[in-house]
Amino acid sequence: MVDPSAAPVGSSEAIADTGRRPMWHRVVLKMSGEALASSSAGETVDAAVVGRIAAEIAQAKREFDLELAIVVGGGNIWRGTEGAAAGMDRATSDAMGMLATVINALALQEALERVGQPTRVLSAIHMAEVAEPYIRRRAIRHLEKGRVVIFAAGMGNPYFTTDTSAALRAAEIEADVLLKGTHSGVDGVYSADPKVHEDAVRYDKIAFMDVVAKDLRVMDLTAVTFCKDNSLPVLVFDIMRPNNILRTLAGEDIGTLIT
Ligand code: UDP
Repeated sequence: MVDPSAAPVGSSEAIADTGRRPMWHRVVLKMSGEALASSSAGETVDAAVVGRIAAEIAQAKREFDLELAIVVGGGNIWRGTEGAAAGMDRATSDAMGMLATVINALALQEALERVGQPTRVLSAIHMAEVAEPYIRRRAIRHLEKGRVVIFAAGMGNPYFTTDTSAALRAAEIEADVLLKGTHSGVDGVYSADPKVHEDAVRYDKIAFMDVVAKDLRVMDLTAVTFCKDNSLPVLVFDIMRPNNILRTLAGEDIGTLIT
């Protein structure tokens, strides 16, 4: 079998021929802001990295019958907790974080549309000049029309993260799954931190209860319990590895499925 990770994005070898159809029809993809940055070039938003992610998403939209919404974080620019730790008012610091997500959302939209994928940014904070307001029914309509929807500004409320925003939006639009793309080189949920414990093992599947009981730091706890309470499966995978978005959407068994 072709190693899909070795094939360039967009090549016919990019997706292993598993013969499987995508498992999900409506999907929310959560990516951290840091997935758009580059440590090597020192860029906060690296156009080449954003372009690679956009190319994969556009290819997945062309090849699979699926509706795709994205929630992007803002951690490459600002995190509310960091400002608060330095003595700032938390709500203001979080507002800065939410605005950071809008910058990332616009970067992603631009990259997606440059490769021909119609995209709408729906913001939880009103900023009519650059993004539509978040309206649930409008988001669903955009998805039905084949547009990629990017949810920006989190939930519009401080004291939350974009993991929780992604979980909430996924539930609201009745997505089949939340895909949580990691950027730290960890390709799923492990029994312990694999960077510290060499003998840590990766789970193919794990229950929400076990993620909570074992205190496995996959997403923030609010997001995990929300997904559990609302029976929303979460697939954790390494978004930085080329073609992994395609492989995940193709239904390949990569990462860890939390149910
Ligand atoms: N944020 C918020 N409310 C939300 C979502 C995000 O206040 O509903 C703020 C919060 O300060 C957070 C920042 O936006 O630190 C950026 O989001 P996040 O840290 O989740 O980004 P990521 O780590 O995914 O890049």
